[in-house]
Amino acid sequence: MNPTYVSKAAQQIKPSGIRKFFDLASTMEGVISLGVGEPDFVTAWNVREASILSLEQGYTSYTANAGLLSLRKEISHYLKKRFHLDYSPDEELIVTVGASQALDIAVRAILNPGEEVLIPEPCFVAYEALVALAGGKPVHIQTSAEQGFKASPKDFEAALTKRTKAILLSTPSNPTGSVYSKTELEEIAAFAEQHDLLVIADEIYAELTYDEPYASFASINGMKQRTILISGFSKGFAMTGWRLGYVAAPTFLRDPMLKIHQYSMMCAPSMAQFGAEEALKNGLDDVDKMKKSYRRRRNLFIDALNDMGLDCHRPGGAFYAFPSIKKTGMSSEAFAESLLLNEKIAVVPGSVFGPSGEGYIRCSYASSIEQLQEALVRMKRFIESS
Ligand code: PLP
Repeated sequence: MNPTYVSKAAQQIKPSGIRKFFDLASTMEGVISLGVGEPDFVTAWNVREASILSLEQGYTSYTANAGLLSLRKEISHYLKKRFHLDYSPDEELIVTVGASQALDIAVRAILNPGEEVLIPEPCFVAYEALVALAGGKPVHIQTSAEQGFKASPKDFEAALTKRTKAILLSTPSNPTGSVYSKTELEEIAAFAEQHDLLVIADEIYAELTYDEPYASFASINGMKQRTILISGFSKGFAMTGWRLGYVAAPTFLRDPMLKIHQYSMMCAPSMAQFGAEEALKNGLDDVDKMKKSYRRRRNLFIDALNDMGLDCHRPGGAFYAFPSIKKTGMSSEAFAESLLLNEKIAVVPGSVFGPSGEGYIRCSYASSIEQLQEALVRMKRFIESS
C-alpha cells in the first residue's frame, strides 16, 4: 500500500507503549496484572439497573448534543457539592464519550497550528498525541521524584514561548498518583494569569485522593475563566467501559467544543447517560467505599515496595504506585519485561509516560489484597535475584 495514503500526523504519533505489555501478558498463563489503569470493582448494581431500565423503557434515541439536561443538572449539582464549583447545566457543560473525548475536543477547540501546550511528564499517554493531532505542539516539562513529580511555575517559565497557549495539568496524576496542593495550584494560577494561558485540568481521578481535601483548579480565585475542566465516571465510579465523561468550561470555550462534539460524536450513548445520572444521584456512598478500599491498598502496597528497597513516594491519589527501579541498573522497559517473563507480573515501564519516567515502573494497586500480596512476594524474589 502507498504510505502517502496515511496522513503525516497519523504516521507520526506513536502507538501507546502500554499495549505492548498487555499483548505479551495476554499470551501467558498465571500472570498477575498490575498494568491496567482501571478499578477492579464492577459498576454498582443500581447504576447498571438504571441503564437497563432506560433500554426497557425504549429510550434509545439521540440525546441533546450536550447530553441529557437532567444529567447535566446532576453533574452541576455534584461539582458544586464535592468541589465547590459553579457550572451552568445549560451553558457550561458537555457530556462526552469518556474524559478521552473531552480532552480531544478541548485541544481541538483552542489550538491553532504550532501553538504549544505545556505538559508536565511523566503523564497520561494520550496527551502528546491528542495535542499533536489537533495541530499543536506538546512541550514536555520534566519533573522528578524529588519534586513529587509535580511542575512549578519556574519549570513552566523555562519552557514558555510566544506560542504557548495552555498548560495541561493532571491532578491526581496518572502514572505517579501525585496531587497538587491548593497552594501549588494557586502558584500555577498566578502564572497562568500573568502569561494569559489557558489551563486544561484533567481531574478524572479527583474522587480518589487519600490525604487532603481535593483542590480543583477551577475553584482557585479567577481561574474558572481560564480552565477547561475534564472529568468523568471511569475511575471514581468504576465505569470505564461505559465511556462517559464530561467537560466543564465557561461558555466562550464550551460553545466551540460543543460544535466539534456535535459534528464528530453527536452525543454520548443514551443508556450510559441514564446510568451516570443514577451514579450521581445515589452512588456517592459507593464511591467513598471504593476510595477507602484503595487507600488501604495504597498503604499496604507502598510500604511493602519501600521495604523491599524499591523507593516509592507515597502517592496522594489515583491507584498507581510509581517506584524507582534505578537500583537494579536496568532500564524500566528491561525491568518490566524481565519481571513479566520471570515472575509473571505485568507492570508498565515508566518511560512510556515520558522521559522523566525512565528508571520507574507504574504498578496499579487496583487489584485484590490477595493478588497484591502474591505480586509483592514475586517482586521481592525478583529484586533479590537480580
Ligand atoms: N485522563 C487520565 C489521566 C487517565 O488516566 C485516563 C484513563 O486512564 C483518562 C483521562 C481517560 O479516561 P476515560 O476512560 O474517561 O476516557
